[in-house]
Amino acid sequence: ISSAASDVYKRQVCVRLRPLIPEDYKLGNVVRSSPERCVHLSLDGQTVKISKDAYDVKLYRVDNTFDEAASQTEVYESSYKKIVIDALNGFNGTGMVYGQTGSGKSHTIFGSHSEPGLVQLAINDVFKDVRLRIAKDLVANVFLSFYQLYLEQAYDLLTTTTNCGKPECPALSIREDSTKGAFVENLQYVYVDDEKTTMDVLKLGLRNRKVHSTTYNMSSSRSHAIFQMYLDFEEKDDTELTSNLIISRQQNENIPSRSKKYSVRRRVLTFVDLAGSERVQTHHQAKSKTQFKESVAINKSISALGNCVQALANMSLHSSDDINDIFTNTNSNSNAVAAAQKRNLHVPFRDCKLTRLLAEPLGGNSKTCIIVNIGPCYYNYEETKSTLKFARR
Ligand code: ADP
Ligand code: MG
Repeated sequence: ISSAASDVYKRQVCVRLRPLIPEDYKLGNVVRSSPERCVHLSLDGQTVKISKDAYDVKLYRVDNTFDEAASQTEVYESSYKKIVIDALNGFNGTGMVYGQTGSGKSHTIFGSHSEPGLVQLAINDVFKDVRLRIAKDLVANVFLSFYQLYLEQAYDLLTTTTNCGKPECPALSIREDSTKGAFVENLQYVYVDDEKTTMDVLKLGLRNRKVHSTTYNMSSSRSHAIFQMYLDFEEKDDTELTSNLIISRQQNENIPSRSKKYSVRRRVLTFVDLAGSERVQTHHQAKSKTQFKESVAINKSISALGNCVQALANMSLHSSDDINDIFTNTNSNSNAVAAAQKRNLHVPFRDCKLTRLLAEPLGGNSKTCIIVNIGPCYYNYEETKSTLKFARR
C-alpha cells in the first residue's frame, strides 16, 4: 500500500446521502409514491443542494459527496482509506461520522449484517500491512480499545463482565497527564492478531453498546462511540517519519527493539460514531430531565468539536514554518497545544470530554476525515440543513 496524497490534506469533509428506507415512507406520510425529496448532489462530486421550495435553495461545497448508490467500498476508497494508509506510514488518523439519527452513521462506519462498515475495510488494510511487516521480521503489534461517552462520562465497551450495561457497571474516570494528555482510566486494551480477532472484539463492543443503551434507557444515538486501533510498528530510525515515538500508556513497555537502528513507533487510528445531530430539545420539548441533559451534553460536545476543528483549520491556513512545526514535530498533543499556546494560537480542546480525549487524534500529527450523513427526504429538511452547516464549518 503506497502513501497517497499524505501531505495534500489534513482534514477532509465528505457528505454521504443514504437511499430511501422503509422508515421514510412512514415519516414522509406516503404509502405507495416516494416521499418528497429535498437533497440533490451535483455531478461535480463536491456540491450538495438542498431546497425547501423553489425560492429557498442552499448550496454547500465539501471535499467529496457520495450518492445513494455508492457502495461501502467506494465510500471507503475515497475517504478513510487515505487516513489508514497515512497511519501505516506514520501519522495518527481519525475517521468520524456525523448526522441525525437514522441518517446512516452506524451503517457507514460499523456496517450492517449484509455489508462491512468502513472500520472493517480499514481493519483489512491494516492487517495486510501487518503481515508484510511480519514477513520482513519487523515487530508489528496491534491493540484496541472501544468505549462510549454518554453524558460526559466514559463507559468501556470491551468489558466481558456480566454487569456490563447494568447501572452498577461504573463510568470510568477521565484523567489528564502532562505527557499522555487526557485518557480514560482503567480502560481495557485488547491485543489482536488478525482480522478475525479484531472483528470479534469490535462485535463484542457493538453488542455491549446495544445492551448499554437499553439498560440506561438511552438510544445509542445519544452517545459517542470511540473505537481505537493502536499500531506499534518497528521502523528503521532513518525512516523519515513524523510519528509519535512509543508511549508507554499500557503494558507496552517491554516491546523488544532489535538494535539502535530500529525503534517501535506508535500511531493511532481513531474511529468515532458521533451522537445524533438532531437539534437540542429545550426544557419544554424534552420528555424527561435525562433527555434534556443528554441534549445539552451532545450539543456542548459537538459545538466544541466544531470549534477545535475550525481552530486547527485556521492554523493550517497560516503558512509560517512555526505553525508547520506544530503539525510535524509533535510527539504528543500536549506539545502541540503548548506550541500553539506559545504562539497565541488557541485550540479549545479542553472545553469538553470529547475534545479533550480527541486532542491527540485531531491535533498534532494527524489526519482527519469526517463523513456527514444525510437522508434524502423533505421531512428531514431542517435537520439536514443544520447538519450541512456543521459540515461547512
Ligand atoms: P444512524 O446510525 O445515523 O442512526 P443507521 O446507520 O442506523 O443510522 O441507519 C438507519 C437505517 O438506514 C438502518 O436500517 C440502515 O441499515 C439504513 N441505511 C443507512 N445507510 C444506508 C445505505 N447507504 N444503504 C442501505 N441502507 C442504509
Ligand atoms: Mg447509529
